[in-house]
Amino acid sequence: FFPTTPASDNRLVFCRFNFRLRTMASHIVGYPRMGPKRELKFALESFWDGKSTDEELQKVAADLRSSIWKQMADAGIKYIPSNTFSYYDQVLDTTAMLGAVPSRYDWYGGEIGFDVYFSMARGNASVPAMEMTKWFDTNYHYIVPELGPDVNFSYASHKAVNEFKEAKALGIETVPVIVGPVSYLLLSKPAKGVVKSFSLLSLIDKILPVYKEVVTELKAAGATWIQFDEPTLVMDLECHKLQAFTHAYLELASSLSGLNVLIETYFADVPAEAYKTLIALKGVTGFGFDLIRGTSTLDLIKGGFPSGKYLFAGVVDGRNIWANDLAASVTTLKELEGIVGKGNIVVSTSCSLLHTAVDLVNETRLDKEIKSWLAFAAQKVVEVNALAKALSDHKDEELFSANAAAHGSRKSSPRVMNEAVQKAAAALKGSDHRRATNVSARLDVQQKKLNLPILPTTTLGSFPQTIELRKVRREYKAKKVSEEEYVKAIKEEIDKVVKLQEELDIDVLVHGEPERNDMVEYFGEQLSGFAFTVNGWVQSYGSRCVKPPIIYGDVSRPKAMTVFWSSMAQSMTCRPMKGMLTGPVTILNWSFVRNDQPRFETCYQIALAIKDEVEDLEKAGITVIQIDEAALREGLPLRKSEQPFYLDWAVHSFRITNCGVKDTTQIHTHMCYSNFNDIILSIIDMDADVIAIENSRSDEKLLSVFCEGVKYGAGIGPGVYDIHSPRIPSTQEIADRINKMLAVLESNILWVNPDCGLKTRKYAEVKPALSNMVAAAKLLRNQL
Ligand code: GLN
Ligand code: ZN
Repeated sequence: FFPTTPASDNRLVFCRFNFRLRTMASHIVGYPRMGPKRELKFALESFWDGKSTDEELQKVAADLRSSIWKQMADAGIKYIPSNTFSYYDQVLDTTAMLGAVPSRYDWYGGEIGFDVYFSMARGNASVPAMEMTKWFDTNYHYIVPELGPDVNFSYASHKAVNEFKEAKALGIETVPVIVGPVSYLLLSKPAKGVVKSFSLLSLIDKILPVYKEVVTELKAAGATWIQFDEPTLVMDLECHKLQAFTHAYLELASSLSGLNVLIETYFADVPAEAYKTLIALKGVTGFGFDLIRGTSTLDLIKGGFPSGKYLFAGVVDGRNIWANDLAASVTTLKELEGIVGKGNIVVSTSCSLLHTAVDLVNETRLDKEIKSWLAFAAQKVVEVNALAKALSDHKDEELFSANAAAHGSRKSSPRVMNEAVQKAAAALKGSDHRRATNVSARLDVQQKKLNLPILPTTTLGSFPQTIELRKVRREYKAKKVSEEEYVKAIKEEIDKVVKLQEELDIDVLVHGEPERNDMVEYFGEQLSGFAFTVNGWVQSYGSRCVKPPIIYGDVSRPKAMTVFWSSMAQSMTCRPMKGMLTGPVTILNWSFVRNDQPRFETCYQIALAIKDEVEDLEKAGITVIQIDEAALREGLPLRKSEQPFYLDWAVHSFRITNCGVKDTTQIHTHMCYSNFNDIILSIIDMDADVIAIENSRSDEKLLSVFCEGVKYGAGIGPGVYDIHSPRIPSTQEIADRINKMLAVLESNILWVNPDCGLKTRKYAEVKPALSNMVAAAKLLRNQL
């Protein structure tokens, strides 16, 4: 047994325990909470449905925590995180810790329990939930704290301390992890009604006393380390924000004395200015960096690292599913060791493993060779420890040679490499792909062919997915239903959807996507280069998880993917039937992407596959084709300096898909976010004929771009009602919305459509809503 001692005593310990001297330490930033088979999800949902008690939920959670801690301890990890478990979200946990409960949740002090906690997360019968937003550039969403000058902060959730004690009772010493005070404030928003001039950072001196209480309690409970996650340090922060870090940690220093303090950053490298601030922080013992995403961190460290401090080197990718290249990591670590000194380096993950899948052991259906190339969270823990041991001359030869063999097989495998695809994609670099005619001229010839009324109506692709529909798809997949029966069932569904749209008098129809489970998976399953997991779930928000496909090889399209269904649907109607595709950037951003070539190269390959599909649809007589880029914005890099490059290849990829179509073929695209003011020029540069975008929750924001005089000539369909809610909008309400848009946009470019696909709604909601939407369009047509 080797006690974990404060850094200052390390030398002493190393002398006494020679073994320690030679074992480099290992650390994990954080771990997935859902469990290998989404145990937490099912426990949460059962609790929310009133089908189980709070004790039952707590039991599942405690079992998950203990198995995770034990697994890390068994693997030999030295710095094991605690408090990275959460019933919903770690930022919400911090809000609870600080007692920053918005007044509408009726909390009157005391320890915050499930009632108040889940009300903030999910709303309750009388109050809606707090806002949720994306956690940096991941697909995880956090609950945004709402703060104002009147919030009375108080220590209201002892979760961090409780979990530390819980692990300790199991004989496992952990590093409690807490969202750092400055990042917490920078990730907050001003509460409703708070004056515009209010600065969230002005609250720092009000929250620090609570942080001090927590720290004091952790020390009393026996903690020797504490980890503050300050990921906002990787953003482009203004000077006064950086100063807030200096101020906060100076203020905390005396409470922290006697504790080792790790400041963890992740998701990108730390900008030079931030790095300077970070390494000068008072009372800090160690600094954690993402060495996977970061491109310049190594240079910064070479330029100077404070002597005697620990470097937590994040060399194992927390956001992907690939096995680490152990030999390459050893080289990096040795180089770093040369700079910061032996014994001062700790092997770590690039960020919390929350953003990767849980355990490869449960993948029973993955191809064996592909499986050998992968590492999920559980395997990454082993990798981190193997690296630490290798650097201390305890190299696990067997593991290293298996790892090298897997990398060799991945490099040379014919499954990965498709020369023709590589060549075609390489040829796209540096070139420009655009349709020959400009958009206004195209719209003219398209209109001659389509002959649509002014303010044409359409929907965005999917129609409600009924239980029967899901069942027939599932049974077809399991081969319980013949192909013939399956086609018949889907055909009937399409027929129903087409008739309904004709009855509603919608102008441009869709087939309803009944054959698709998911807009990325559907295409991935038909493209080569993709693999699918059974349990590769990653938390998206609360109990919701996604299962991203794995892109492991060069992408190509063996055969047409949608032409069969789209032409069948077109044959049922005289109205134009929209072909419906998912765009390359969205397929990329919603998958685990290969790390052996740049993202843009993979994206170009997908673009070429989608281009083939677009052209086959055109040949089959489809004249309107929608290419969804729901996730284009999601891939936007965090750092401004990296954004132009991303936008350039992402927009280029989209244009590649449709640059070869005739002028008369109308290309639509759809994007699922309204907050696009900052990338409006890129969106225009996509050069689609019609863009349908989410809008119903933020009219003003969207329309303000056009008020500011952005030149816009393409068709545009800002969603006229919110499909995320079961509420049925009235004709008048929709007409008012359209009128607002008409005030800033020309009537001849405006389309009328809902916000997004209708997949998650019920027919009882969709029918009246669409009927009101068409009525509103007609009402205004008569007035124009
Ligand atoms: N065409 C897709 C649908 O209607 C679009 C979904 C999306 O944008 N998320 O379901
Ligand atoms: Zn959408």
